[in-house]
Amino acid sequence: MMITRYRVYSDHLQQKFGEKVYKLPINLPGTCPNRDGTLGTGGCIFCDAEGAGFECLPNTLSIEKQIEKNKNFFKKRFNARKFISYFQAFTNTYMCLDEFKDNIQAAAKDPDIIGISISTRPDCINDLYLDFLLEIKEQKGLNINIELGLQTVNYHTLSRVNRGHTLAEFIDALLRIKARGFESVAHVILNLPGDDMLDVIENAKIISALGVNYVKLHSLYIVKGTKLGNMFEQGLVELISLDQYIERVVTFIEYLDPKIVIQRLVGKGPQGNLHFCNWSTSWWKIKRRIEEVLEEKDTYQGRKFNYLNGKVLKVKNI
Ligand code: SF4
Repeated sequence: MMITRYRVYSDHLQQKFGEKVYKLPINLPGTCPNRDGTLGTGGCIFCDAEGAGFECLPNTLSIEKQIEKNKNFFKKRFNARKFISYFQAFTNTYMCLDEFKDNIQAAAKDPDIIGISISTRPDCINDLYLDFLLEIKEQKGLNINIELGLQTVNYHTLSRVNRGHTLAEFIDALLRIKARGFESVAHVILNLPGDDMLDVIENAKIISALGVNYVKLHSLYIVKGTKLGNMFEQGLVELISLDQYIERVVTFIEYLDPKIVIQRLVGKGPQGNLHFCNWSTSWWKIKRRIEEVLEEKDTYQGRKFNYLNGKVLKVKNI
Protein backbone atom coordinates (compact mmCIF):
# COMPACT_ATOMS: atom_id res chain seq x y z
CA MET A 1 0.00 0.00 0.00
CA MET A 2 1.25 3.46 -0.91
CA ILE A 3 1.96 5.63 2.15
CA THR A 4 1.45 9.39 2.08
CA ARG A 5 4.78 11.05 1.54
CA TYR A 6 3.58 14.63 1.79
CA ARG A 7 1.05 16.52 3.90
CA VAL A 8 -2.30 16.25 2.18
CA TYR A 9 -4.75 19.15 2.59
CA SER A 10 -7.96 17.12 2.89
CA ASP A 11 -6.41 14.98 5.67
CA HIS A 12 -5.23 18.13 7.43
CA LEU A 13 -8.72 19.70 7.32
CA GLN A 14 -10.27 16.49 8.60
CA GLN A 15 -7.83 16.41 11.53
CA LYS A 16 -8.18 20.11 12.28
CA PHE A 17 -11.98 20.35 12.14
CA GLY A 18 -12.91 16.77 12.98
CA GLU A 19 -14.75 16.21 9.69
CA LYS A 20 -14.51 16.95 6.00
CA VAL A 21 -14.60 20.66 5.18
CA TYR A 22 -15.48 22.10 1.76
CA LYS A 23 -14.40 25.34 0.13
CA LEU A 24 -17.13 27.47 -1.45
CA PRO A 25 -15.65 29.62 -4.22
CA ILE A 26 -16.85 33.22 -4.40
CA ASN A 27 -16.42 35.15 -7.60
CA LEU A 28 -16.37 38.95 -7.31
CA PRO A 29 -16.66 41.30 -10.26
CA GLY A 30 -13.24 42.60 -9.34
CA THR A 31 -10.16 43.39 -11.24
CA CYS A 32 -6.50 43.57 -10.52
CA PRO A 33 -4.06 46.48 -10.23
CA ASN A 34 -1.92 44.74 -12.80
CA ARG A 35 -4.74 44.94 -15.35
CA ASP A 36 -6.60 48.17 -14.64
CA GLY A 37 -3.69 50.54 -15.23
CA THR A 38 -2.63 51.04 -11.59
CA LEU A 39 0.47 48.91 -12.09
CA GLY A 40 -0.05 48.04 -15.74
CA THR A 41 -2.74 47.05 -18.22
CA GLY A 42 -1.56 43.73 -19.62
CA GLY A 43 -1.51 41.76 -16.37
CA CYS A 44 0.82 38.85 -15.75
CA ILE A 45 1.81 37.40 -19.10
CA PHE A 46 -0.08 34.15 -18.33
CA CYS A 47 -3.29 35.76 -17.02
CA ASP A 48 -6.51 35.29 -18.95
CA ALA A 49 -9.55 37.52 -18.49
CA GLU A 50 -11.11 35.13 -15.98
CA GLY A 51 -8.56 36.08 -13.31
CA ALA A 52 -8.32 32.46 -12.13
CA GLY A 53 -12.07 32.34 -11.51
CA PHE A 54 -12.93 29.77 -14.12
CA GLU A 55 -14.36 27.25 -11.66
CA CYS A 56 -16.67 29.78 -10.02
CA LEU A 57 -20.33 30.75 -10.38
CA PRO A 58 -21.04 33.95 -12.37
CA ASN A 59 -19.94 37.09 -10.54
CA THR A 60 -23.33 38.70 -11.16
CA LEU A 61 -24.74 36.62 -8.28
CA SER A 62 -24.49 38.08 -4.78
CA ILE A 63 -21.97 36.60 -2.34
CA GLU A 64 -24.82 35.16 -0.26
CA LYS A 65 -26.39 33.53 -3.34
CA GLN A 66 -23.07 32.02 -4.47
CA ILE A 67 -22.50 30.60 -0.99
CA GLU A 68 -26.02 29.20 -0.81
CA LYS A 69 -25.86 27.55 -4.26
CA ASN A 70 -22.43 26.02 -3.73
CA LYS A 71 -23.28 24.96 -0.19
CA ASN A 72 -26.46 23.20 -1.29
CA PHE A 73 -24.51 21.34 -3.96
CA PHE A 74 -21.95 20.05 -1.43
CA LYS A 75 -24.64 19.29 1.15
CA LYS A 76 -26.64 17.20 -1.30
CA ARG A 77 -23.69 15.46 -2.87
CA PHE A 78 -21.42 14.84 0.13
CA ASN A 79 -23.65 15.48 3.11
CA ALA A 80 -21.22 18.28 3.99
CA ARG A 81 -21.73 20.40 7.11
CA LYS A 82 -18.73 22.72 7.43
CA PHE A 83 -17.53 25.20 4.83
CA ILE A 84 -14.89 27.80 4.07
CA SER A 85 -15.86 30.89 2.07
CA TYR A 86 -13.18 31.19 -0.56
CA PHE A 87 -12.64 34.47 -2.41
CA GLN A 88 -10.89 32.94 -5.37
CA ALA A 89 -10.94 35.04 -8.53
CA PHE A 90 -8.85 38.16 -9.13
CA THR A 91 -7.46 40.26 -6.25
CA ASN A 92 -9.89 40.16 -3.35
CA THR A 93 -8.34 42.87 -1.20
CA TYR A 94 -8.04 45.33 -4.08
CA MET A 95 -11.00 47.57 -3.21
CA CYS A 96 -11.85 50.26 -0.69
CA LEU A 97 -11.94 49.19 2.93
CA ASP A 98 -15.74 49.58 3.26
CA GLU A 99 -16.40 47.35 0.28
CA PHE A 100 -13.95 44.79 1.62
CA LYS A 101 -15.71 44.81 5.00
CA ASP A 102 -19.14 44.32 3.36
CA ASN A 103 -17.82 41.37 1.34
CA ILE A 104 -16.24 39.68 4.33
CA GLN A 105 -19.35 40.19 6.45
CA ALA A 106 -21.51 38.70 3.69
CA ALA A 107 -19.18 35.71 3.46
CA ALA A 108 -19.17 35.19 7.23
CA LYS A 109 -22.96 35.33 7.75
CA ASP A 110 -23.88 31.72 7.16
CA PRO A 111 -23.65 29.68 10.40
CA ASP A 112 -22.08 26.74 8.54
CA ILE A 113 -19.08 28.87 7.55
CA ILE A 114 -16.10 28.08 9.76
CA GLY A 115 -13.43 29.98 7.87
CA ILE A 116 -12.66 32.57 5.25
CA SER A 117 -9.96 32.20 2.67
CA ILE A 118 -8.93 35.23 0.63
CA SER A 119 -6.83 35.08 -2.48
CA THR A 120 -4.90 38.21 -3.35
CA ARG A 121 -1.64 39.73 -4.49
CA PRO A 122 1.20 40.31 -2.02
CA ASP A 123 1.15 44.04 -2.80
CA CYS A 124 -2.54 44.30 -1.80
CA ILE A 125 -2.08 43.40 1.85
CA ASN A 126 -2.57 46.30 4.24
CA ASP A 127 -2.75 46.61 8.03
CA LEU A 128 -6.23 48.22 8.08
CA TYR A 129 -7.71 45.32 6.13
CA LEU A 130 -5.91 42.78 8.28
CA ASP A 131 -7.06 44.49 11.47
CA PHE A 132 -10.66 44.23 10.30
CA LEU A 133 -10.15 40.52 9.60
CA LEU A 134 -8.81 40.15 13.12
CA GLU A 135 -12.02 41.69 14.50
CA ILE A 136 -14.13 39.27 12.45
CA LYS A 137 -11.97 36.37 13.53
CA GLU A 138 -12.42 37.26 17.20
CA GLN A 139 -16.15 38.05 16.92
CA LYS A 140 -17.11 34.93 15.02
CA GLY A 141 -14.34 32.50 15.86
CA LEU A 142 -13.49 32.06 12.20
CA ASN A 143 -10.34 30.63 10.73
CA ILE A 144 -8.72 33.27 8.49
CA ASN A 145 -6.50 32.18 5.69
CA ILE A 146 -4.82 34.45 3.14
CA GLU A 147 -3.59 33.09 -0.13
CA LEU A 148 -0.82 35.03 -1.82
CA GLY A 149 0.12 34.66 -5.44
CA LEU A 150 3.88 34.43 -5.22
CA GLN A 151 4.50 32.22 -8.28
CA THR A 152 8.28 32.25 -7.81
CA VAL A 153 10.85 33.74 -5.47
CA ASN A 154 13.06 34.59 -8.44
CA TYR A 155 12.51 38.34 -8.79
CA HIS A 156 14.05 38.37 -12.25
CA THR A 157 11.40 35.90 -13.39
CA LEU A 158 8.70 37.92 -11.58
CA SER A 159 9.78 40.91 -13.60
CA ARG A 160 9.87 38.92 -16.86
CA VAL A 161 6.33 37.58 -16.36
CA ASN A 162 5.17 41.10 -15.49
CA ARG A 163 3.87 40.33 -12.00
CA GLY A 164 4.22 43.96 -10.93
CA HIS A 165 5.68 42.97 -7.55
CA THR A 166 8.88 41.35 -6.38
CA LEU A 167 9.85 39.00 -3.57
CA ALA A 168 10.00 41.89 -1.07
CA GLU A 169 6.24 42.51 -1.22
CA PHE A 170 5.60 38.84 -0.57
CA ILE A 171 7.86 38.87 2.51
CA ASP A 172 6.23 42.05 3.80
CA ALA A 173 2.69 40.69 3.32
CA LEU A 174 3.61 37.40 4.94
CA LEU A 175 5.06 39.04 8.04
CA ARG A 176 1.93 41.20 8.48
CA ILE A 177 -0.35 38.17 8.06
CA LYS A 178 1.68 36.14 10.55
CA ALA A 179 1.76 39.00 13.06
CA ARG A 180 -2.03 38.66 13.38
CA GLY A 181 -1.96 34.90 13.66
CA PHE A 182 -3.68 34.24 10.33
CA GLU A 183 -2.80 31.32 8.15
CA SER A 184 -1.01 31.88 4.85
CA VAL A 185 -0.90 30.10 1.54
CA ALA A 186 1.76 30.56 -1.14
CA HIS A 187 0.76 29.92 -4.70
CA VAL A 188 3.73 28.71 -6.76
CA ILE A 189 4.34 27.80 -10.40
CA LEU A 190 7.39 25.57 -10.67
CA ASN A 191 7.93 25.84 -14.42
CA LEU A 192 7.82 29.54 -15.20
CA PRO A 193 9.95 30.34 -18.24
CA GLY A 194 13.50 31.06 -17.11
CA ASP A 195 13.25 29.31 -13.75
CA ASP A 196 15.40 26.24 -13.17
CA MET A 197 15.92 23.66 -10.41
CA LEU A 198 17.84 26.17 -8.27
CA ASP A 199 14.76 28.39 -8.24
CA VAL A 200 12.57 25.43 -7.35
CA ILE A 201 14.77 24.68 -4.33
CA GLU A 202 14.89 28.33 -3.31
CA ASN A 203 11.09 28.51 -3.54
CA ALA A 204 10.81 25.68 -1.04
CA LYS A 205 13.51 27.14 1.22
CA ILE A 206 12.12 30.67 1.39
CA ILE A 207 8.54 29.48 1.87
CA SER A 208 9.76 27.23 4.69
CA ALA A 209 11.97 29.92 6.26
CA LEU A 210 9.05 32.35 6.34
CA GLY A 211 6.78 29.86 8.07
CA VAL A 212 4.07 29.77 5.40
CA ASN A 213 1.31 27.31 6.40
CA TYR A 214 0.17 25.97 3.03
CA VAL A 215 1.41 25.78 -0.54
CA LYS A 216 -0.53 25.40 -3.72
CA LEU A 217 1.37 24.19 -6.77
CA HIS A 218 0.39 24.77 -10.36
CA SER A 219 2.11 24.10 -13.61
CA LEU A 220 2.11 26.86 -16.16
CA TYR A 221 -0.76 26.81 -18.60
CA ILE A 222 -0.78 28.88 -21.76
CA VAL A 223 -4.10 30.44 -22.73
CA LYS A 224 -4.64 31.72 -26.28
CA GLY A 225 -4.83 35.48 -26.54
CA THR A 226 -2.62 36.13 -23.50
CA LYS A 227 0.82 37.69 -23.84
CA LEU A 228 2.31 34.29 -23.08
CA GLY A 229 0.02 32.72 -25.69
CA ASN A 230 1.34 35.15 -28.30
CA MET A 231 4.93 34.41 -27.27
CA PHE A 232 4.18 30.70 -27.57
CA GLU A 233 2.84 31.18 -31.12
CA GLN A 234 6.09 32.93 -32.03
CA GLY A 235 8.13 30.04 -30.62
CA LEU A 236 9.47 32.15 -27.78
CA VAL A 237 8.40 29.90 -24.90
CA GLU A 238 10.58 26.99 -23.92
CA LEU A 239 8.68 24.37 -21.92
CA ILE A 240 10.18 21.60 -19.86
CA SER A 241 8.95 18.01 -20.26
CA LEU A 242 6.44 16.40 -17.92
CA ASP A 243 9.20 14.18 -16.46
CA GLN A 244 11.33 17.24 -15.75
CA TYR A 245 8.36 18.96 -14.14
CA ILE A 246 7.68 15.96 -11.93
CA GLU A 247 11.33 15.98 -10.88
CA ARG A 248 10.93 19.64 -9.91
CA VAL A 249 7.82 18.92 -7.83
CA VAL A 250 9.52 16.02 -6.05
CA THR A 251 12.58 18.17 -5.30
CA PHE A 252 10.36 21.01 -4.05
CA ILE A 253 8.62 18.58 -1.71
CA GLU A 254 11.95 17.26 -0.42
CA TYR A 255 13.11 20.75 0.57
CA LEU A 256 9.77 21.85 2.00
CA ASP A 257 9.29 22.05 5.77
CA PRO A 258 7.33 18.90 6.69
CA LYS A 259 4.87 21.03 8.69
CA ILE A 260 3.62 22.83 5.57
CA VAL A 261 0.42 21.40 4.13
CA ILE A 262 0.22 21.00 0.36
CA GLN A 263 -3.18 22.26 -0.69
CA ARG A 264 -2.76 21.33 -4.29
CA LEU A 265 -0.13 19.25 -6.04
CA VAL A 266 -1.40 19.77 -9.58
CA GLY A 267 -3.66 22.52 -10.94
CA LYS A 268 -6.48 21.76 -13.37
CA GLY A 269 -6.27 24.74 -15.72
CA PRO A 270 -9.17 26.27 -17.62
CA GLN A 271 -11.17 24.35 -20.23
CA GLY A 272 -10.56 25.17 -23.89
CA ASN A 273 -8.82 28.07 -25.61
CA LEU A 274 -5.47 26.66 -24.61
CA HIS A 275 -2.10 26.29 -26.25
CA PHE A 276 -0.70 24.23 -23.43
CA CYS A 277 -1.95 22.74 -20.19
CA ASN A 278 -0.47 19.95 -18.09
CA TRP A 279 1.25 18.29 -21.05
CA SER A 280 -2.22 17.28 -22.34
CA THR A 281 -2.38 14.84 -19.44
CA SER A 282 -5.15 14.78 -16.87
CA TRP A 283 -4.20 16.40 -13.58
CA TRP A 284 -4.88 13.26 -11.56
CA LYS A 285 -2.49 11.20 -13.72
CA ILE A 286 0.26 13.76 -13.03
CA LYS A 287 -0.59 13.69 -9.35
CA ARG A 288 -0.43 9.90 -9.30
CA ARG A 289 2.92 9.97 -11.15
CA ILE A 290 4.37 12.44 -8.62
CA GLU A 291 3.26 10.11 -5.82
CA GLU A 292 4.79 7.12 -7.64
CA VAL A 293 8.13 8.92 -8.09
CA LEU A 294 8.17 9.83 -4.38
CA GLU A 295 7.61 6.14 -3.71
CA GLU A 296 10.21 4.89 -6.23
CA LYS A 297 12.85 7.24 -4.82
CA ASP A 298 11.78 6.39 -1.29
CA THR A 299 11.70 10.10 -0.56
CA TYR A 300 9.24 12.39 1.24
CA GLN A 301 8.37 15.94 2.26
CA GLY A 302 11.13 17.53 4.28
CA ARG A 303 13.82 14.93 3.57
CA LYS A 304 16.19 17.80 2.67
CA PHE A 305 14.76 20.29 5.17
CA ASN A 306 18.02 20.73 7.04
CA TYR A 307 18.99 24.28 6.15
CA LEU A 308 17.36 26.50 8.84
CA ASN A 309 18.35 27.45 12.37
CA GLY A 310 22.12 27.54 11.86
CA LYS A 311 22.73 24.60 9.59
CA VAL A 312 26.52 24.91 9.90
CA LEU A 313 26.41 24.81 13.69
CA LYS A 314 24.28 21.69 13.53
CA VAL A 315 26.55 20.03 10.96
CA LYS A 316 29.64 20.72 13.09
CA ASN A 317 27.72 19.65 16.17
CA ILE A 318 28.95 22.73 18.09
S1 SF4 B 1 -2.22 39.10 -10.37
FE1 SF4 B 1 -3.70 37.50 -10.92
S2 SF4 B 1 -5.49 38.57 -11.75
FE2 SF4 B 1 -3.78 40.04 -11.71
S3 SF4 B 1 -2.87 39.97 -13.75
FE3 SF4 B 1 -1.74 38.53 -12.46
S4 SF4 B 1 -2.73 36.51 -12.67
FE4 SF4 B 1 -4.13 38.12 -13.48
